[in-house]
Amino acid sequence: MGKFQYFYKPKHKQITGNLRTALIREQHNMLRNVLPALYATMMVTLIVFTLSFKDMLPQWYSLYLPLGFLGFMTIRANYWFKSFRRGPEPNIKQIQKDIRSVSWVTPLMILCYSTLAIYSQLDQGNHHLTLAVVVVWCVALVTAFSLSTLPLTSIFVIMFATIPISISFALHGTSDLTPLVSIFISLSLLVIYTNSVTYRTFVETIITRCKLSKKNAIIENEREFATKIAYTDNLTGLPNRRSFYDKLDEKLIQLENGETKPFSVAIIDLDGFKPINDVHGHQTGDAVLIEVGKRLVSAIKNSGMVARLGGDEFCILVNDIVTEEDATLLGDHLVEALRPVYNIDSVKAHLSGSCGINLVSNEGASSSCVMERADLALYKAKSENRGYTEIFSREMEENVRKRSQVEQALREAIADNSIDIHFQPIVNLHDKKIIGMEALARWHHPELGDISPDWFIPIAEHSGLIAELTENLFRKAITTAKKWPEEYFLSFNLSAENLTRPTVGMNILSIMLQENFNPTRLEIEVTETAIMRNLQRARATIINLRKAQIKISLDDFGTGYSSMSQIKELPFDKIKIDKSFIDGICDSQRTRNLVLSVVGMCKNLNICCLAEGIEDEEQRKILSNMGCKMGQGYLFGKPISSEKSIELLNPSASDKMRLSA
Ligand code: C2E
Ligand code: CA
Ligand code: CA
Repeated sequence: MGKFQYFYKPKHKQITGNLRTALIREQHNMLRNVLPALYATMMVTLIVFTLSFKDMLPQWYSLYLPLGFLGFMTIRANYWFKSFRRGPEPNIKQIQKDIRSVSWVTPLMILCYSTLAIYSQLDQGNHHLTLAVVVVWCVALVTAFSLSTLPLTSIFVIMFATIPISISFALHGTSDLTPLVSIFISLSLLVIYTNSVTYRTFVETIITRCKLSKKNAIIENEREFATKIAYTDNLTGLPNRRSFYDKLDEKLIQLENGETKPFSVAIIDLDGFKPINDVHGHQTGDAVLIEVGKRLVSAIKNSGMVARLGGDEFCILVNDIVTEEDATLLGDHLVEALRPVYNIDSVKAHLSGSCGINLVSNEGASSSCVMERADLALYKAKSENRGYTEIFSREMEENVRKRSQVEQALREAIADNSIDIHFQPIVNLHDKKIIGMEALARWHHPELGDISPDWFIPIAEHSGLIAELTENLFRKAITTAKKWPEEYFLSFNLSAENLTRPTVGMNILSIMLQENFNPTRLEIEVTETAIMRNLQRARATIINLRKAQIKISLDDFGTGYSSMSQIKELPFDKIKIDKSFIDGICDSQRTRNLVLSVVGMCKNLNICCLAEGIEDEEQRKILSNMGCKMGQGYLFGKPISSEKSIELLNPSASDKMRLSA
């Protein structure tokens, strides 16, 4: 009978699925609340009724039947009372069984109750029969009313109460009972009507509640999704910057409260990722980044969190790393994990990573301070120890302070054009005769003293001052070189940043034209590392300069990481073998072989070969015998001032100047 309970159906709507379940659950809930009280009331009325007439009735009516009935009601009442007290709802199958049993049992119980009450009074006269009818109907109406959430059952309850009344009325009916029966019939109709209205409202409420909870579930899902998106890097699926900072903040609070041990924060920046992107395209680049993420996650196992901060930068929080030794081991482990070749479709990509680690043990540090320190260590690794690990130290912070001091001074020096240029001779290794000069920047600050270009050129690059500095220096170099005899060439260094700015190349050309300087006397030195920073732009600058008949030298050859491929790719006129090779040339056969192979390669490719940093005669002889044509180093001369270079290259002019003085 359970399924007939839904005699009200909202228009165009099926009560199925979750809605049906919700409806049944709510019906059951109402029954759990109402039935114990209903049974108690029925039992009280039965006891009172039976006791009132016990002397007039045979034992069947006054004792056995009421007792049996009471026993049955006690069992049912007890069942529902327990269900009421049990708290959490039973499963849906049990609920359906309970509702089905109520749908059958309650009308039948009312039938028995009415039959007992009416037939016990049939022979007791009209007064008693009337009383029995009133009691039966009151109990039936109250029961029907209590079962408003089971409207069909409540109709059956009223009908089953009516059956014995109607039979008794047919058998012994007197006209006295007619008004009473009419009143009860109209009251019954009212209860049926009220129940149907109540049930309709009940169903509507459940539908609204279901809709609301569905909507809430959707909103909750959307919120969860949005949160996931906001905290996840959508390329690698790793936590993103925001997520990492949240975690770091949480750890720092725990550290302050003594709830966690000191930990470490590592930042990894990939070396050589940009060329992969440039050469093989972004899809391969993306696949490499995904693989990098996977390798880092498996490298730290479950001891922390790996996040992608953006670009080719990854950040790792590792628990329980407290000593520098452990941190170095961790960093080495991470960078080692990145080294094996990346097989992306048909591409075999190689890259490495530099790692900066900050050991976080001090309470009260902010997340930005922790990250800045890890970043400083990374910066040091990238500039001095590429592909390896650096641990943050106080000294690094001191360097940063010095850097900002130098940067400030550099701005002033560039503005008043006080950075000077010196010249170092480049000679023919065979006869040691000067053939050209390399221009090298020199800066003497009144308070900070002499500052090496190795130190201030990168600062000028980072602070956006390099273009202006290069133009100033180039103008000075050209002005001096114009005073040398025509046969000497000028070699001028361009920084990495210079190479990636198309305007710098253009400005060099326009200064050269303005000064009316012969382009065949000019050489521009570029390093491999500078080229690799942005291969495409560097190539464009180099090709433009060459078109204007300017020669290009590959500086510091052998210190970069892709020497051979660069020589093949770009049109160089000269290769300058780095001083580090020349230093070992006398003592190491291996170094000699290496240099010899470079000299041989230059010969084959018809490129000039120059050895840098020659400090003694033995080195010169070895290099000259190998066939290296040009050299540069303290053996032939240290960098000298502009005036001295003019004197050196124009001995007669200087004699004249001295004579006229
Ligand atoms: P570099 O281009 O390799 O310049 C050669 C450096 O080696 C110079 O140092 C020079 O003084 C030094 N050197 C030359 N011969 C010897 C030798 O026999 N022994 C030793 N120990 N050193 C020798 P410097 O002038 O300190 O320049 C360092 C670097 O700074 C240069 O390396 C170059 O990369 C950069 N640099 C210098 N001037 C400029 C400039 O005007 N613009 C740019 N972009 N970079 C510059
Ligand atoms: Ca150079
Ligand atoms: Ca060099």
